[in-house]
Amino acid sequence: MNRVRTRFAPSPTGFMHIGNLRTALYAYLFAKSSGGDFILRIEDTDRARYVEGAVEFIENTLEAAKIIPDEGPHHGGNFAPYVQSERMDIYKKYAEQLIESGHAYRCFCQQSEEQSGEKKFGGYDRHCRDLSDDEIKKNLDAGVPYVIRQKMPLVGETTFFDVLHGNITIANSELEDQVLLKRDGMPTYNFANVIDDHLMEVSHIIRGTEFITSTPKHVLLYQFFGWELPTFIHLAPVMGKAADGSISKLSKRHGATSFDDLIKMGYLPEAITNYVALLGWSPKNTNQEIFSMEELIAAFSLEGLSKSPAVFDYDKLDWMSGEYFKRMSDQQFADSARSFVELDENLSSKWIFLAGLLKTRVSKLSDIQPSIKFLIEKPPFDAELFVNKKNKITVEKSIEIIEPTIGVIERIDDWTIEKISAAISEFTTSTGLKVGTVMWPLRVGLSGQKVTPGGVNEILYLLGKKNSVARLNETLDNLRAL
Ligand code: GLU
Repeated sequence: MNRVRTRFAPSPTGFMHIGNLRTALYAYLFAKSSGGDFILRIEDTDRARYVEGAVEFIENTLEAAKIIPDEGPHHGGNFAPYVQSERMDIYKKYAEQLIESGHAYRCFCQQSEEQSGEKKFGGYDRHCRDLSDDEIKKNLDAGVPYVIRQKMPLVGETTFFDVLHGNITIANSELEDQVLLKRDGMPTYNFANVIDDHLMEVSHIIRGTEFITSTPKHVLLYQFFGWELPTFIHLAPVMGKAADGSISKLSKRHGATSFDDLIKMGYLPEAITNYVALLGWSPKNTNQEIFSMEELIAAFSLEGLSKSPAVFDYDKLDWMSGEYFKRMSDQQFADSARSFVELDENLSSKWIFLAGLLKTRVSKLSDIQPSIKFLIEKPPFDAELFVNKKNKITVEKSIEIIEPTIGVIERIDDWTIEKISAAISEFTTSTGLKVGTVMWPLRVGLSGQKVTPGGVNEILYLLGKKNSVARLNETLDNLRAL
């Protein structure tokens, strides 16, 4: 077999949809698992859709996801340039070659381009398909602008093989004489894509199913040129599940849809990549779910690809993300999460300790700030929170427990988590009450909420002695005033 060469060929729209990221990832994994090359090619011939800075955005996204091209605009390679708008001469040459061989023709019709939209099959009446040499010359001499159209066979059918979908056949009579080169010399996607895949020696084309209907037109071009066909793999789409349970293509209404959105929410790039890898691919003979990039490369094969659509499951991503956090050291987690939190001076000095508590409790870094806000600013007093049937806690009981605890806390001389734990534990034993009964009013009194990351000892440590005593005194006053 020829060397495996795959490519990711995004249009620079300034956005990396999860589905596109997955396409890039599979193309990368397949190339790397076969000892081949992964190419980044920018398909920017549709200038109307061009977004400034989008190429850098794509490159940065791939880098963050650790999908590293062997060849590309800024990665070198023998097939440069890798940006289609810099390859105009090449497309012109091949379009003219097709005219020579009778597989394409110049079309001088007005509004020809507008009629060329793929959706509008039948829109173009093939008026210029059989113009006489004289008519062509007359138009050219008069400087009438023209597009170049593909001369589709009028009979027969075109068949190609897709690894996931098997043989796909279409009647040639269904195919429009599509535009290959526009008036301004810009190639269409359907033309440039074929020329480049051939010239860049792409062996396997991995892309979304939305391109499956264009593929017969591509296949005909390969045949016209007498080029060897690459292997086609059209991936099933990534779907989203709406609140009402309905399934449709993943879009904004389902939640975040781009790699960037997920990064901003505080998922780690490696967790996203890992999750995305399993959206439509599964490893053979293992239930393993957590994969490093190296492990993905080792495990990847085309046989593991699913031909049915995968549903993006945000809960599953949360779970996986949490697994990545748990595997980090406190220091690593603290570093990753630091830009997601605003800390006061006190908490900054205890950040690694706090990060250690949070590490096992969060699924995305943007959840952290709301969950630690109470440490900086105590929520308003709410007497209801103190009443708890299970722990037999009432307002009176809360006062009974909080009052002596203040003295206990004041007597702790060395403010370490060990000393605090020992003092609180000794006090609990002395009351003869259950641990839960003692902890309930203390937790609520200190934090102003029922649930906290970490227990009473950790909250005490984090708040500091003075602040803890102040909060409990204030709570006591509020409870007494009821
Ligand atoms: N430029 C096309 C796109 O963005 C690439 C399709 C293909 O991979 O052939 O989506």
